[in-house]
Amino acid sequence: MMTKNKWNVVIIGGGLAGLTAALHLANFNCLVCLIEKNEYPNHKVCGEYVSNEVLPYLKSLGVNPFSVGAKEISKFKITDSVGKPITATLPLGGFGISRFAFDQLLYETIKNKVYVVFDTVEKINFEKNQFEISTQKKGVFKADFVVGAFGKRSNIDSFLNRKFMRQNSPWLAVKAHYDYDFSEDTVALHNFSGGYCGLSKTENDVVNACYLTTFKSFKKYGKIAEFQKQEMSKNPFLNEFFSKAKPLFKKPLTISQISFQKKNPVENHIFMVGDSAGLIHPLCGNGMAMAIKSAQIFSEIFLKSFQKNNFNRALIEAEYIKSWKNEFESRLKTGRLIQRVLMNPSTSKVGFAMAKVVPSIVPMIIKKTHGNTTP
Ligand SMILES: Cc1cc2nc3c(=O)[nH]c(=O)nc-3n(C[C@H](O)[C@H](O)[C@H](O)COP(=O)(O)OP(=O)(O)OC[C@H]3O[C@@H](n4cnc5c(N)ncnc54)[C@H](O)[C@@H]3O)c2cc1C
Repeated sequence: MMTKNKWNVVIIGGGLAGLTAALHLANFNCLVCLIEKNEYPNHKVCGEYVSNEVLPYLKSLGVNPFSVGAKEISKFKITDSVGKPITATLPLGGFGISRFAFDQLLYETIKNKVYVVFDTVEKINFEKNQFEISTQKKGVFKADFVVGAFGKRSNIDSFLNRKFMRQNSPWLAVKAHYDYDFSEDTVALHNFSGGYCGLSKTENDVVNACYLTTFKSFKKYGKIAEFQKQEMSKNPFLNEFFSKAKPLFKKPLTISQISFQKKNPVENHIFMVGDSAGLIHPLCGNGMAMAIKSAQIFSEIFLKSFQKNNFNRALIEAEYIKSWKNEFESRLKTGRLIQRVLMNPSTSKVGFAMAKVVPSIVPMIIKKTHGNTTP
């Protein structure tokens, strides 16, 4: 394996976006180093429902989520805060897989092709058309190009002084796995005052429950168990779930300061992929597909120059920004709109009433937040 000097591309962050970009680039003989702060496998706060829009692309990279038992999901059920349900068939469908298994599957696929370093990146400097990436323990890495795949919130965002880090976010999220009788072909989204909770099955037959809520709503109760029992359980579906489901984690995972603010797809010459470029509201259920798709977009653009050995940084950056915006800008906008409608009790009531009368609205909205399947 190569030493730390010097790489065509250093990828910072080995979640879905970073792992996919690493695999795609390495398949075309690019010298790639991926730096990830945590060892695999590990659990992440995530709804764990992946849209099928990225399945053909994953398969083209030699990654098959069903080889580790992912569940096929074709139905969607949404309830309002008093538990009135609407069901729909998902236009593209998707699959249920834990991040524990999905990230590990990708890591196993790349580990003999890509130089993976387990360490935390602290600084990235760009000078004389060259990057120097400083890590906590393993020194400095040099690269021609850097991909930022460090997720929704990282120390690197502070280092780069990114705008969204200067504003507090009201959102927090909680996730845990449970033993519970639940249809494996369904992803459910249950509203409650101040948030919504997704339920779906993963490869190992457990139910993942992941919810997003405002700090304001949560702080009335202060404790997760109290919040689930007293606030969330006003929705009868969640009441049934939390009273019968057997928790499989010692305690749920939590994250806070989740920002849905706009971000730039390129900053300080770093190509941002996945949540580093922008996070869609989780109720749209396709942040992971967007992370994978943005890795594909970057890789395809970069490889055109790599294969000709002719790099014009400004042109590559401009092409990536344009393609990223074309693919994601309107989805993010629709996601923000749906979030606003669902989180406001009166607009949410109207929305649910409309969807009851015209059920085709639901798949139509889902389509607007998702892309097409591309190989
Ligand atoms: C509550 C909630 C529910 C969601 N539910 C769904 C869902 O059901 N379906 C869906 O498709 N999407 C969902 N999403 C969105 C989805 O989780 C993200 O879009 C997806 O994880 C993005 O992948 P990523 O690779 O960009 O980031 P991540 O998976 O977060 O990976 C970033 C990686 O960077 C590493 N890192 C960070 N800083 C450094 C550093 N300085 N040095 C080294 N490594 C670093 C981290 O350790 C991490 O492994 C949800 C999001 C939330 C908040």
